[in-house]
Amino acid sequence: MRHHIVAEQLPDGVTLKEWHMVRGEEQQSMCGRDVAEGAAELPDDAWGTDSAHPFCHTCGALYLREVP
Ligand SMILES: [Zn+2]
Repeated sequence: MRHHIVAEQLPDGVTLKEWHMVRGEEQQSMCGRDVAEGAAELPDDAWGTDSAHPFCHTCGALYLREVP
């Protein structure tokens, strides 16, 4: 099961709030946020790079525990 990264936007729908990690095809991020329809996505190997910044601290911690 692949992880991927999704964007959470501010309510204006344009400004990036932060990136979250999502497990496989789940509809919620690992920290429990609903994934917005049509949210921008990145592959999980973008984790820790400038493209996935700022990144949700909760998702980051959980991801590190799951991925060797
Ligand atoms: Zn998160």
